[in-house]
Amino acid sequence: MSKELTLSIIKPDATSRNITGQVNSIIEKSGLKIIAQKRIKLSKETAGKFYEVHRERPFFQDLVSFMVSGPVIVQVLQGENAVALYRKVMGATNPQEAEVGTIRKEFALSIEANSVHGSDSIENAKKEISFFFSETEILED
Ligand code: ADP
Ligand code: MG
Repeated sequence: MSKELTLSIIKPDATSRNITGQVNSIIEKSGLKIIAQKRIKLSKETAGKFYEVHRERPFFQDLVSFMVSGPVIVQVLQGENAVALYRKVMGATNPQEAEVGTIRKEFALSIEANSVHGSDSIENAKKEISFFFSETEILED
């Protein structure tokens, strides 16, 4: 039994449509547990730093503008194989390629406004969790 952690972000397209609870419901039905959560407004600087690996990609500026366009919910999810499991629960980056029942298939508006972020490796999950949360904010089971 591993107690892996991953970072999730519910993006502005979802918070603006008031579907945070519906996203969380899919997360919880998958067996993942939301063990930390807060609603914040990202600055351009913070969003740019978070998406640093994409800085040279053509969509970077648009992505940053989108991520600061409204509040986001940052959350820590816990579960067995949480990183890989959440990537599956989220669905493909492009919602047109996402499987039925995934968060992105159900809710995403476009490849950019795709409702959620999830860490893509255990190593990145650790970095991304500490980017947003202090140890005292995370209460593991
Ligand atoms: P994922 O979020 O599935 O890990 P990436 O890490 O490749 O996807 O991209 C980060 C985010 O950048 C995506 O979730 C999406 O919001 C945005 N994005 C990715 N590819 C594109 C694209 N071709 N055009 C516009 N936005 C994109
Ligand atoms: Mg990614």
